[in-house]
Amino acid sequence: MKTIRINRTGDADVLEYEEIATPAPGPGQARVKVEAAGLNFIDIYHRIGAYTLKPPFTPGMEGAGVVDAVGPGVTGLQPGDRVAWTMQSASYAEYVCIAAEKLVPLPEGISSRQAAAVMLQGLTAHYLCHSTYPVKPGDKTVVTAAAGGVGHLLVQMIKRAGGWVAATVSTEEKAALARSAGADEVILYTQTDFEAEVKRLTGGAGVEVVYDSVGKTTFDKSLNCLKPRGYMVLYGQASGPVPPVDPQILNQKGSLFLTRPSLGAYILTREELLARSQAVFDWMLSGALEVRIDREFPLAQAADAHRYMEARRTKGKVLLIP
Ligand code: NDP
Repeated sequence: MKTIRINRTGDADVLEYEEIATPAPGPGQARVKVEAAGLNFIDIYHRIGAYTLKPPFTPGMEGAGVVDAVGPGVTGLQPGDRVAWTMQSASYAEYVCIAAEKLVPLPEGISSRQAAAVMLQGLTAHYLCHSTYPVKPGDKTVVTAAAGGVGHLLVQMIKRAGGWVAATVSTEEKAALARSAGADEVILYTQTDFEAEVKRLTGGAGVEVVYDSVGKTTFDKSLNCLKPRGYMVLYGQASGPVPPVDPQILNQKGSLFLTRPSLGAYILTREELLARSQAVFDWMLSGALEVRIDREFPLAQAADAHRYMEARRTKGKVLLIP
């Protein structure tokens, strides 16, 4: 089968399109013919060696397709079943073997492309605003990179939960997308000081929660946007890692809460994985959630897709099609 391999960590050029043996499903696994794989920032972190995955490996933590074979001991799944997954590696390939218990059945009406576009970022948006800091009607929030993969979905979910959103984006084009997702206010943080603007918009009071995916360049200002006892939910680092923080700063700024969550810890059980997926699929089917597919690249062009994301050009989801 065709696959993308990383034989050494580095820039996008290390993504090589190779032919390898099609894997056989082991005990408890199903083999899936991949119809679409999702591109995520975590793939870039794996590629550059920021997170620990030792080469050689096939990247990709998300996708959807059709079960093609099952290994010993698998019940409840059979060839022909349509499934999706997230936080399972080696998705940049024509076939992938995954533990059956990590596969989510796809309902009628959700295509493989839509599923591959929503599993990682959609379930992330879901846990952020329903579990990490559950948004209540009237809560004021800040969402960074609001036209991005997670951001665009998170804005919609916060609005659905009755919250108010100040969205930050870098360009006018992205501002229009954030507005279409329902953001109450949009701040071009490349031109305007978003801390001052959030304070102005909230009459100096600040917000209950900041969902910050940008990290290094926004962290300090995000903390300053919070009300006393507010929640700083730092879930990403698109601009680079945040330097070490003295906990005393949380005291000084008003008994703040700081958390650095990740999706893996919010889909620990099969019940939780299925419940979050079901909620997201239901909203998609009812039209309550728009999943925006920005671009599709052939699997062989994975390096171009990585460059596109690193250049800050994504407006929604990027898919790789084997
Ligand atoms: P996005 O589609 O949001 O892309 C990243 C966005 O970050 C850019 O479009 C850009 O938006 C903004 N950005 C700001 N500064 C930079 C910079 N220096 N370089 C690149 N981008 C920058 O990506 P995702 O939604 O997929 O992921 C966003 C972050 O969230 C990543 O760090 C990712 O690892 C993390 N994440 C964490 C998860 C978790 O469970 N903790 C799960 C999923 C993602 P703009 O131009 O508007 O500023």
